[in-house]
Amino acid sequence: MGTHYELILNASHDFITLVDRSYRYAFVNASYCKQMGIPRQEIEGKTIAEIWGDDRFNGRIKRHLEECFSGRESHDIDRFRFGDGFRYIHVSYFPYKEGDEITHAMVYSHDITAIKELESKILDFEFKDSTTGLFNRKSFDIVLDMELEKARRSESDKIRAVLFVNLRHFSQINAQYGAAVGDLLLESTAIRIKEALRSSDYVFRFEGKELAILLTTMKKDTDIALVAENIREKATFPYQFKDEIIHIGCNIGVAVSPFDGAEKDDLIQSVLSAMNEARERDLSVVVFNKELYKRSLRKARLKSDIRRALVEEQFTLNFQPISSPQGEIVGAEALIRWTHKELGPISPSEFIPLAEESGDTVMIGRWNLFRVCRYLKSWENFLGSRYVSVNLSAREFTDPGLVEYVEDVLHSEGVHPSRIKLEITETQTMADLEDAVVKIRRLEALGLEVFIDDFGSGYSSLAYLKKLPAKTVKIDKIFVDHVVEDEGDRNFLAGMISMIRSRGKTIVVEGVETLPQVEILKTLGIQKIQGYYFSRPVTPDIFEELLKNNQILPLVI
Ligand code: C2E
Ligand code: CA
Ligand code: CA
Repeated sequence: MGTHYELILNASHDFITLVDRSYRYAFVNASYCKQMGIPRQEIEGKTIAEIWGDDRFNGRIKRHLEECFSGRESHDIDRFRFGDGFRYIHVSYFPYKEGDEITHAMVYSHDITAIKELESKILDFEFKDSTTGLFNRKSFDIVLDMELEKARRSESDKIRAVLFVNLRHFSQINAQYGAAVGDLLLESTAIRIKEALRSSDYVFRFEGKELAILLTTMKKDTDIALVAENIREKATFPYQFKDEIIHIGCNIGVAVSPFDGAEKDDLIQSVLSAMNEARERDLSVVVFNKELYKRSLRKARLKSDIRRALVEEQFTLNFQPISSPQGEIVGAEALIRWTHKELGPISPSEFIPLAEESGDTVMIGRWNLFRVCRYLKSWENFLGSRYVSVNLSAREFTDPGLVEYVEDVLHSEGVHPSRIKLEITETQTMADLEDAVVKIRRLEALGLEVFIDDFGSGYSSLAYLKKLPAKTVKIDKIFVDHVVEDEGDRNFLAGMISMIRSRGKTIVVEGVETLPQVEILKTLGIQKIQGYYFSRPVTPDIFEELLKNNQILPLVI
């Protein structure tokens, strides 16, 4: 062993030894001697058994050395009495060659006691959520760091999986049974999940009603989707509370390290995008993949481009006629369009939810309403009693300044309130029914009618509809799609229509694409229809022409 090697090895904080084929120490570095508290000359030349005892040597050490002498590196984590205390040591055995022959094993020992101590520290209260007693976000960060570090150091145990579980219905549960019951269910759900896992896996409360699960014992061929499915089953098994059955739903996102991120932040980003995808589409399990990642990048980009788009006037409005079954135009729905400078047309179904997250829909909505008023004003001479309906997002509807703003704009643009309808969805009004009722009344007091949009597609309840003062309901496309070929659907639609009428409300049917559908709607007495059969959404210029000409739809070209 050359002296400059010795210098380098002696400078290392790790413990380094060179062991020959008769299991004797040929070299030990300075850290090693210091930690052992034995001078070098009393170690070098001795066998491992003489230093560590026969049991220790014949147990794991010998096996690893044999592995190493046969040409393969080998790793171990073990607990040693090392000097004056117990230490957790990660030991690596590397074959050491002189010429072509393996003459020694070079043994690196790295003290990971600090990491191990952290492992036990997370049992402390400070790392637990104070309401549920679950491990909290802080411990998640620490444990994940630690596990990824272990994975990096290990040769054979490199895979870790993270699952984020979004639990559904908790706001309803909290509202109905109280937050204490909600917390209890959250804790029980976490315990159920924990029971389905190995003892080396972890469950954390990540944020609110999200759990994070860390799987530490993964093989390359572990079927992660199966594990996730198992977790879903545990999480959604119904609870009995007093005489009632409580159902919890969940959406799970999964990412696997190192494939979906070797660093903590990358991995969390991946698993978050998988969970968001699962939540938005209400899927039980979404496993992260590159496509998803691209989509999350696109989302982030669109989200940040929205404000500029507003300033640079990249948004325009289209109008989709609403007509009688005979094709006479009675009004139109204003639908926003975004032509992105580089990405081209972006569907509102894609960007409105993004704008909603950042609160930008309030600005977009105000812009919309203003533009619609301008158009209405310019069509004054041939508009007659026709109207334009404008979509309101959830945030716009809950915006406390909404009623005043609408009043101001109508007033300053000189537009009669009956020319505008506001479309809101049931789900939007669900969050705070009383507030919604008050708001609708205030709007109606101004002379503005409210349409309930997408009726039947969300959490609709018929009892609920009765409470909403809105006078018009738009029946969602899904209830018309199959009425021609499916008698069951036809009967269902007929029932829905008579129920809505019995509540004293009028109806617009949306998404009508064919003449046979129109015929059926006629027999059901429907007076207002919107859909591709009569017209697709058109530009303001075209819509203006239709109005001027008193055009009967569909346009036959
Ligand atoms: P929505 O309010 O339910 O609007 C109806 C959507 O169905 C429109 O899609 C329309 O083009 C489409 N549609 C109409 N007739 C048919 C048909 O016969 N067949 C089919 N397949 N589709 C039909 P669009 O314009 O892509 O809008 C999608 C959603 O984006 C809207 O659903 C609405 O929720 C939202 N949105 C659109 N414009 C605005 C806006 O200005 N503000 C807000 N907050 N949301 C908007
Ligand atoms: Ca609408
Ligand atoms: Ca709709």
